[in-house]
Amino acid sequence: MLNTSIWKNGVTINRNNFKYKSLSCFSINPFVGCQHACRFCYVPSVSAIKLKGQLAKLGVVDPDGEWGEYAFLRAWDERAFLRSLFAAEKIPVAELNADGNRAVILSSTTDPYQTLRGGEPGESTALNLQVREMVRRMLELIRDRSTLNVRILTRSPLAREDFDLYQTFGNRLVFGMSIPTLDDRLARLYEPKAPSPSRRLETLRLAVSKGISVYAAVAPTYPEQGEAELAAVLGEIGGLNPVTVFHEPIQIRSNNVGRMKMEAEAVGLPFRGDVFETTDRWVEYAVGQLRMAEDVACQLGLGDRFHPWPDKSLGTQQRRRERGADYSAWVDRCWSRISAWPSKNLERMAA
Ligand code: SF4
Repeated sequence: MLNTSIWKNGVTINRNNFKYKSLSCFSINPFVGCQHACRFCYVPSVSAIKLKGQLAKLGVVDPDGEWGEYAFLRAWDERAFLRSLFAAEKIPVAELNADGNRAVILSSTTDPYQTLRGGEPGESTALNLQVREMVRRMLELIRDRSTLNVRILTRSPLAREDFDLYQTFGNRLVFGMSIPTLDDRLARLYEPKAPSPSRRLETLRLAVSKGISVYAAVAPTYPEQGEAELAAVLGEIGGLNPVTVFHEPIQIRSNNVGRMKMEAEAVGLPFRGDVFETTDRWVEYAVGQLRMAEDVACQLGLGDRFHPWPDKSLGTQQRRRERGADYSAWVDRCWSRISAWPSKNLERMAA
């Protein structure tokens, strides 16, 4: 049963500690939980588990096992939000991770444009209206009361309702969608309740037509995807002149492999679960797909904006020794890469 209501702690801007895939320096997460229910999702292995006590009071017994069945909207307290905004604004640039581009990501542990379902009768309708207003208000405050940048990351075409607002940010905002595949059927196994990848691609196209700078997270790509499919995805995205294209394969986190297996059985689709059976097999899949996608991106002329995300576990000393100096240098290159921001993209377009 789907569960939703208000989370009493208000929404604020928080500094994040992304190190290996730095999308931003700060995050805003309007919800606790996410009803898009991606079966690979890494969030329940970290933040949802930390909130176990509070989630239990709202009827969530197993935050990991029930992932996708709950999302609680954080309360809105404008003064508290502004305090967090001013605190973020004051942090000296030298203290921030350069790859974060002094940006606030909306969002990192949930989808800011999901449509809530469940709760008491009429409750989700009211919450959906509330969050739409809240997201717009947060964006207006960031635009008018700070000099911070904004990175939007979503899987939902609902974001198009805010394109007018995005346009007022100029080069301070970049809009991105997670598009790992163009195969809507396969996506149903891994992202059963998220809008289809083809609708996401259309949304990204629409953003481009409105003059909004875009990026894509081709993430996470599934074990079933080979070179031809990666080339198809990257080819479509490359045609939109994205600022950056991020990529990663599926990482093993908490019980996400169990969730993927169960979904495959439920929908009757074949699932390449063998690549998650041992660490060595997962490493072969992860490194193989990272390198393959990078090669494809380079062939398509996207090498300068393709940003692979090797997981921390792929860069241990042992792994580097096993795989040699070239591999080690590649990991360092990926981890030290500073992703572009729209102003630089506009210069490139003008050149
Ligand atoms: S949209 Fe993002 S946060 Fe939500 S379930 Fe999917 S991966 Fe997790």
